[in-house]
Amino acid sequence: MNAEIQSNQKNARIAIIGGGIAGATAALCLGELGLDVTLIEKGPTLVNGPPICHLHAGGNLYREIPVAECLTLLRESIDLLRLYPYAIDYRPTVVAVPQNDKGTPQDLIPRLKTLQAEYQRLIELDANNQVLGAPEQYFELFTLAQVEALKSREIVEKPSSLIEWMIPVAHHVDLTQLKFPIIMVQEYGVNLFRLAASAELALQKMPNCALFTNSKVDAVQSLTDSWQVDYQRDGKNCSENFDFLINAAGFRSGLVDDMLGFGRQRLVEFKAAYVTQWPGCSTIWPELIFFGDRGTPEGMAQFTPYPDGYFQLHGMTESITLFDNGLVESADNSAQPKLPNKFTDKIDKGWPVEEITSRSQSAIDHLSRFIPEFSSVATVSSKPLFGAQQIPGDNADLRAAGVSFVGQHYARCEIVKASSALNVADEIIHQLQRLGYLSQWKRGDRNFNITPTISEQEIADYAQSICIDREYPVSLASCNVRPKGL
Ligand SMILES: Cc1cc2nc3c(=O)[nH]c(=O)nc-3n(C[C@H](O)[C@H](O)[C@H](O)COP(=O)(O)OP(=O)(O)OC[C@H]3O[C@@H](n4cnc5c(N)ncnc54)[C@H](O)[C@@H]3O)c2cc1C
Repeated sequence: MNAEIQSNQKNARIAIIGGGIAGATAALCLGELGLDVTLIEKGPTLVNGPPICHLHAGGNLYREIPVAECLTLLRESIDLLRLYPYAIDYRPTVVAVPQNDKGTPQDLIPRLKTLQAEYQRLIELDANNQVLGAPEQYFELFTLAQVEALKSREIVEKPSSLIEWMIPVAHHVDLTQLKFPIIMVQEYGVNLFRLAASAELALQKMPNCALFTNSKVDAVQSLTDSWQVDYQRDGKNCSENFDFLINAAGFRSGLVDDMLGFGRQRLVEFKAAYVTQWPGCSTIWPELIFFGDRGTPEGMAQFTPYPDGYFQLHGMTESITLFDNGLVESADNSAQPKLPNKFTDKIDKGWPVEEITSRSQSAIDHLSRFIPEFSSVATVSSKPLFGAQQIPGDNADLRAAGVSFVGQHYARCEIVKASSALNVADEIIHQLQRLGYLSQWKRGDRNFNITPTISEQEIADYAQSICIDREYPVSLASCNVRPKGL
């Protein structure tokens, strides 16, 4: 950090409640600016809340959201990718419209062209934004004849072109189930465990950041000119005063709002994705998305690849990813939507084994409609990736959300997608600047000193240990890193 900025800073103390992607990224950005930050996280490691597996660089998994929201997701994803480069799984996504769906692939093309033009514009503004490949290859259409022709091509060990990525689709997907063209788009994956490792390793190196894991905030009070935060750290009761408070408690943000008497309308939704394995499958797959109407038996099916034949499956039906009464709203007397106990028990205590088996099997059946061989080879491999997320306001389809403030010294992080975390951090820094805690700062300037010094190897090693501690197959901590020269 620039010495001039440092010497002009007031010695403000900033507390962040919750070390999910929102709180951890805010801590990292504030920490890089030399601010005095205390991050208090209940769990043993950071980013341990609901899963994050898609970057959403363009929002192409959501037909129902407005173009403006897709453009925001594209811009935010590029920023997030540049901050956490070793947490990104560089593999494209195939988007397909099934024969029995009311939509057509042609409906999707105008939006893709708009996104492509925006990507081109972002690269013209800053060449370092070219992180999703060449803009002219942001997406590609494949006709039935083109995919059929790939059936005779051998699967490539390390695909390096969109055509090579498409070969496994030609070999394994039942093409009669799909409308054509199918679309391949540069929508990458995010590796949750690498994200957790990247943020935590960087924060550990910042002397101005206190990182308290295994620490739970029990009470918050507003004093005349500060916030009193009471928390338990490794079983001991602690109390400290702070000048600025950031509520990044994820789906439990409403509990912190309630402690302070701040009303807020929000939704909370519980969802799950299932971890399966195709034993012996060493193919490098793209992600596959088969569209379908949310909440119906044909709800969107998502086939998310990991190394060593592991696949994470989503099915937007109530017997797979969604749950009856899994979406709840806040009430007039509380900012915290109340999830039924059957969901909070899953989050706090774990899943009944029979439900893991039955829902994972439903997910396998749902995907096997399009990949018939999967039904006979797939096995259930671990507990699901699951959790609850908040959505500010009352629109359950909102995907690009940010931060809100109460007064000048209280910020509430309300992201729906991980990619919004950096925008939230920028908004908070802007507010800290208005308060005089920071003199010089230019929005979007991420000339960081510490975060880029963490090596891919350090991140990979720590991600593996986090993955093992959380009892998932260790392969889930690996991903295809950005090819050189891309
Ligand atoms: C099944 C599923 C799949 C998803 N897939 C994607 C995806 O592919 N891509 C994507 O971008 N998003 C995805 N999401 C959404 C994404 O997971 C969330 O939006 C995101 O994790 C929210 O981050 P957050 O930091 O705001 O909250 P969280 O990750 O929930 O973090 C909040 C943190 O606060 C801590 N905390 C809470 N209360 C306290 C307290 N009193 N004291 C101390 N700590 C506290 C919690 O332990 C937690 O670590 C998915 C969500 C689900 C449910």
